Amino acid sequence: MSAGTLYIVSTPIGNLEDITMRALRILAEVDLIAAEDTRKTSILLNHYTIKKPLTSYFEHNEQVKTGWLIGELQAGKNIALVSEAGTPTISDPGFRIVAAAIAADITVVPVPGACAAIAALSASGLAVHRFAFEGFLPPKSGKRKNLLKKIAGEERTLIFYESPYRIQAAIADMIEVLGERRAVVARELTKLHEEFIYGTLPVIAEKLGRAVIKGEFTVVVEGCPVRKKHDDQ
Ligand code: SAM
Repeated sequence: MSAGTLYIVSTPIGNLEDITMRALRILAEVDLIAAEDTRKTSILLNHYTIKKPLTSYFEHNEQVKTGWLIGELQAGKNIALVSEAGTPTISDPGFRIVAAAIAADITVVPVPGACAAIAALSASGLAVHRFAFEGFLPPKSGKRKNLLKKIAGEERTLIFYESPYRIQAAIADMIEVLGERRAVVARELTKLHEEFIYGTLPVIAEKLGRAVIKGEFTVVVEGCPVRKKHDDQ
């Protein structure tokens, strides 16, 4: 029997309409869906009247579950991997099973779609031709500042994911380490309360200081300004 295919299926980051027709077809056709959050995925599947067996695949069972899923793929099952929202593996579980599938000679097929980092970047108005995705910054200020110092000279536009509990502290550390760069905070992308907060980091900190901090946040920050030749003279 030939092995099945592992599909890496992107799902919406808020608005349930942000899913491709191909993703819906794949989800309806596969034998099994491995989902980071089965409850969230059930809401999506119910919305599109798709009935499929679900199995959980999240950070804390990723290691043990990978072997079992590879076995199912080798037995000929087609499996879709979905995360809670957006593109699996991007600051989400999935890397382990993708690497294991490739090592086992199983076909891995991406089914692209929503990703908060790309959505935020595309509407940021900052340079998009080169960018660096940093994912989540360390939760503690000391480690966060150390990381920011390491990337302070990066000329590409920077993209960060941040939690509502740490967004203000993270912006404060960015001001301290990166200075008065332009940035955009994208909140609740594709959702009812979608909002873009534009300005320099200090201006954004000021605006955030006046707001109720709720929802999901992606932060896009201008890269380190390129030093002109005459600056070196
Ligand atoms: N795999 C996802 C993707 O493709 O975007 C990201 C998963 S990561 C665990 C979740 C983080 O992504 C959130 O904490 C937030 O920083 C960002 N994010 C997800 N949805 C968002 C949204 N609707 N608006 C702004 N940021 C979002």
